[in-house]
Amino acid sequence: MTDCVFCKIAAGEIPSETVYEDESVLAFRDINPQAPTHILVIPKEHIASAADISPESGNSARVASCFEAIAKIARSEGLGGGFRVITNVGEDGGQTVRHLHFHLLGGVKMGDSLTGVLPHRQGV
Ligand code: AMP
Ligand code: ZN
Repeated sequence: MTDCVFCKIAAGEIPSETVYEDESVLAFRDINPQAPTHILVIPKEHIASAADISPESGNSARVASCFEAIAKIARSEGLGGGFRVITNVGEDGGQTVRHLHFHLLGGVKMGDSLTGVLPHRQGV
């Protein structure tokens, strides 16, 4: 997609700090890190979000490739103690870039709750 920032990164049109790349996956450091290690793992092919994965679209293997990359990156980044993977979907999920991406977060012991993904409380 021509107006997609992550497609542009995948095409090398916007610079990024690449940490892993293969034929179908790219991983690069988040520009606004939320943990000591914060890497974004994306399929190079444009998929809008995790809501668009289906057998009909034939894109499930792209997700598997992302997770294979995540396991490799976690090892190379020294995250043997564990890590967290998050994907935001759509408006309510807080997705700001509409190209499927997995946040790989680590380098610190995560809190017990999924803080930050809890619903916004509106007087309830
Ligand atoms: P999300 O809110 O789940 O859509 O996450 C989008 C993430 O992309 C945020 O954590 C941003 O900091 C990150 N981001 C946006 N633009 C860039 C960029 N050019 N290079 C690296 N990370 C980016
Ligand atoms: Zn894209």
